[in-house]
Amino acid sequence: MKNKEVAKLFNEISEYLEMDGVAFKPYAYQKAARALESLQDDLGDLYRQGGLKALKKIPGIGESMAQKIEEYLTTGKMQYYEDFKKKMPINLEEIIGVEEVGPKKAKVLYEQLGIKTLEELEEAAKAHKIAPLFGFGQKTEDNILQGIGFLKTGKGRFLLGDILPIAHGIWQKLLSLKEVEKADTAGSLRRMKDTIGDVDFLVVSRQPEKVMDFFVTLPGVVRVWGRGSTKSSVRLKEGFDMDLRVIPPESYGAALQYFTGSKEHNIALRKIAIDQGYKLSEYGLFQGDTPVAAETEEEVYARLGLAWIPPELREDRGEIDAALTGKLPRLLDYRDIKGDLHVHSNWNGGVQSIREIAAAARELGYEYVGISDHTKFLKIEHGLDEEQLRARNKEIEEINLELKHAGHNFTVLKGCEANIMADGSIDIADEVLAEMDYVIAGVHSQFKMPRAEMTRRIITAMENPHVDIISHPTGRLLKKREEYDISLEKILEAARSTGTVLEINAYPERLDLNDLNIRVCKNLGIKMVINTDAHQVDQLRLMPFGIAQARRGWAEKEDIINAWPVARLLQMLK
Ligand SMILES: [Zn+2]
Ligand SMILES: [Zn+2]
Repeated sequence: MKNKEVAKLFNEISEYLEMDGVAFKPYAYQKAARALESLQDDLGDLYRQGGLKALKKIPGIGESMAQKIEEYLTTGKMQYYEDFKKKMPINLEEIIGVEEVGPKKAKVLYEQLGIKTLEELEEAAKAHKIAPLFGFGQKTEDNILQGIGFLKTGKGRFLLGDILPIAHGIWQKLLSLKEVEKADTAGSLRRMKDTIGDVDFLVVSRQPEKVMDFFVTLPGVVRVWGRGSTKSSVRLKEGFDMDLRVIPPESYGAALQYFTGSKEHNIALRKIAIDQGYKLSEYGLFQGDTPVAAETEEEVYARLGLAWIPPELREDRGEIDAALTGKLPRLLDYRDIKGDLHVHSNWNGGVQSIREIAAAARELGYEYVGISDHTKFLKIEHGLDEEQLRARNKEIEEINLELKHAGHNFTVLKGCEANIMADGSIDIADEVLAEMDYVIAGVHSQFKMPRAEMTRRIITAMENPHVDIISHPTGRLLKKREEYDISLEKILEAARSTGTVLEINAYPERLDLNDLNIRVCKNLGIKMVINTDAHQVDQLRLMPFGIAQARRGWAEKEDIINAWPVARLLQMLK
């Protein structure tokens, strides 16, 4: 896809501009690159249909950037970029990928030592050629070597689902210390981003030394990067880093706001502060030298005339304007979900029986659970054929009777997760699909089809009058598999016209739809369902990961059908 290629070039231009000490422009290119990365439409399509004019309609793209995109689309090259590259032929992605090295350092490393690649950087560090350079030193050299090691093992980012349980456990331990008065996580973890770089804790304590002792000796700490009286940093055996900062109580809110980010949100917020004659930092909101708000986040936002903004929204995607004008969404709450519609039982590849699943779902406080076993095409998951589906449905009906007799207000729904074949047909006969309470359909084979065919395939499935929900609509697996090559725009159009619900798969490796796509669906009025895709009952507890992405996509109760009572849910489905 050209969008990603151009975004990469713009990112590198931003880095080259920064090397040359140019003001403002680097950020403009960075912002444009982000806009391109999250753009729904293919740049090539846009250009073919609307020319230069259409390119200029992309947020953050002005005349000169649009011309550069046009040049790249028509010639496969961008001369502006090529000129930079010729002057400084560095593999920027590699070199700047090392945590310690920014554009300015990369420039010095090239000019003084001719370093162009990661391999050359590692060689130079090992030969101690970097420490003597002006502005570097031994510590930087060591950090560069450690950074390279990290790149080789961890690749830098971790799944929210892997990090959150560990961080939550440590947070609980911190809260239980008598020396700790307050503790929170900050950063991308608090914003519930789908992947996390590192973990930040903020703490209020009158005895910071004791807290630091505790933190740097936590079980699982394999390395202490630094231990001070206000900040310590460690690496855990899982490969990620954690920082802990001790904050004075009077500026805790400002620090929490600052370290929660995102960077983009904070830049925009600081600008609002400046416009109003204030200065905002991690220490507080100041008028001249006088702090006017700092103790709580609410205070800081309120003083700027803004409602408090839920952390999941802090990405500079319009939340500040919404907070200024009282138009923040009434976000879906973590307690709003009434049932899970994507659960596999032991009739196919799942672990537990339907009775056990129903019991686990009731324990979670749900009003219903939908059993969506795989169907026959998926042989490795023991997918069910028509006859087996009917037998399983009979069992569900029996269980519902038992539940009713026991006086429980709980329903098990008859569903399935059928396969979308290469031609868009469904692998189960229509008359059996018609007997289900609902039908999920998903792509589980032939992931690499050409764009037009893959798009047509999914749309054909949505046009089936029995298909209610499309599971994991884009097929991405975080850090493993790219999305299918599809025109999401066309798929969303079809979802709207056919009344098909799109899934937000809460499985931490999927989180599919992602936050940006959820936002688009919400704006188009397309209904969504948050499902765990549990293959064992423990996985029913993954729901909050999906809810978090829904919140990041500005979803409200009205947008999410499993936040509705069962009667309304069944009425809504086809
Ligand atoms: Zn599936
Ligand atoms: Zn599934």
